[in-house]
Amino acid sequence: MTPFTVRRGNGPIILGLPHGGISIPSGIAARLNDNGRKLADTDWHIAKLYDGLLPNVTTVAATFHRYVIDANRDPAGTSLYPGQNSTELCPTTDFDGLSIWNDGERPSPGDISERRQAFHVPYHNALAAEVSRIKSIHGFALLFDCHSIRSYIPFLFEGRLPDLNIGTNNGKTCAPLIESTVVEIAAQSPFSSVLNGRFRGGWTTRHYGQPQKGVHAIQLEIAQSAYLESEAAPWRYSEEKSAALRETLRQILEALNSLNLNKEALP
Ligand SMILES: [Zn+2]
Repeated sequence: MTPFTVRRGNGPIILGLPHGGISIPSGIAARLNDNGRKLADTDWHIAKLYDGLLPNVTTVAATFHRYVIDANRDPAGTSLYPGQNSTELCPTTDFDGLSIWNDGERPSPGDISERRQAFHVPYHNALAAEVSRIKSIHGFALLFDCHSIRSYIPFLFEGRLPDLNIGTNNGKTCAPLIESTVVEIAAQSPFSSVLNGRFRGGWTTRHYGQPQKGVHAIQLEIAQSAYLESEAAPWRYSEEKSAALRETLRQILEALNSLNLNKEALP
């Protein structure tokens, strides 16, 4: 299995899709329990949601499922949100806190190390190469990390998530103009939104987002209720809902695509 796919464009934006893949090597799939095999924590249809919105964009997508290893977690295993429930680099539970592995078949330290080398490292090598290529063209690069999640998950957060959850790790991962551009378009859209709420940007956003070095990163975590027929199996994509959401995403990406970040004040 190739751990990633890359589609190259020459514009300044790179879309990262670490959680849309559903491939699991058979040896690992055999260890998942019935609950794990539901793959409930997939960023369902995220590639389709963003497909064709911006002609000159570069896309780097993981093909492996996050239950193999989570491409948006620190490879060293550090928690993204210390003190709060979260899932690990190689998750032991789903977002509801329920085990995803057969008894005795949770990933061992050796498994984690193997999966890091086979999946996490190649995905991030590919992403880093694209960031570097785009930066050499424009003098800067903007990594837009694309995510979606169920809007109601009591194990992870109280209440219901807004539709659009914008994450910049409290302004550290991109120029202020990027953050304000996304916030303003989201606020004028038909969708509810929040900046640096429950989701402030995962490891990808925090790792790559170094505005002083010309690499900007921002995460958009979308509530799946905004574009799925329902937040449950079979996780059907709603053409009707997604049409409105894609219009908002198109506006965001087009606005970001036209920014000249070489001249922008840094945070
Ligand atoms: Zn995600």
